[in-house]
Amino acid sequence: MKKITIAIDGYSSTGKSTIAKELANKLGYVYVDTGAMYRMVSLFAMQNGFITSDQFDEKQLISHLETIDLGFVFNAEVGFAEAYLNEENVEREIRTLDVSNYVSKVAAVSEVRQKLVKIQKKIGQDKGVVMDGRDIGTVVFPDAELKLFMTASANTRAQRRFDELIAKGEQVSFEAILENVVNRDHEDTTREDSPLVKAEDAIEVDNSNLTKEEQFQLIYDLAIKAIEL
Ligand code: C5P
Repeated sequence: MKKITIAIDGYSSTGKSTIAKELANKLGYVYVDTGAMYRMVSLFAMQNGFITSDQFDEKQLISHLETIDLGFVFNAEVGFAEAYLNEENVEREIRTLDVSNYVSKVAAVSEVRQKLVKIQKKIGQDKGVVMDGRDIGTVVFPDAELKLFMTASANTRAQRRFDELIAKGEQVSFEAILENVVNRDHEDTTREDSPLVKAEDAIEVDNSNLTKEEQFQLIYDLAIKAIEL
């Protein structure tokens, strides 16, 4: 069967990664979570004091970019590839609200984007990949055979993220999560370099009122159609 590239973009907490992971498993494709890459660079910036609640030293971050080694290692126990920053498993740390609060600032830095886009293009060069993020259908793979743009109301998305973090044992308030979702939407759509926009040829999927099963069926059918074209 022909292998294609599937680009999934959209707002924060629209369930992109869950659906992308499932789709990749079912198709036998590689799944790449590009948000995790931006989160790893943010964690690196935080660990080194380049970004704090009152300052962001972009120059320092840029001058240390070469020392950041990031990748993914498949963990059979959990069934997906976990994030590694300079050989350390950071899968859990990069999902905290703290990292979420800084990541859009770090992701707005062009030098950071250039480094990560280069890695993403390389991973996907042989197709057979499902990649999710904000600029996959517009910048990373503008020629992807299937492009999806995921949306849902901010409240629905905040509720999902809240449930996820609570289940992981994090102490967070719903209001703080909602604020983060709204702020990230704003920062991601208004930044100068590669803002989040729906690619002209992307199919919009609003999943506010879809069950996980309905959504998967819809997207799987679209993928099969694109593969058979
Ligand atoms: O997908 P996730 O919510 O984990 O992404 C975290 C952040 O990383 C986004 O809010 C956005 O600022 C940034 N990002 C990006 N481009 C991508 C993926 C993520 O700018 N392709």
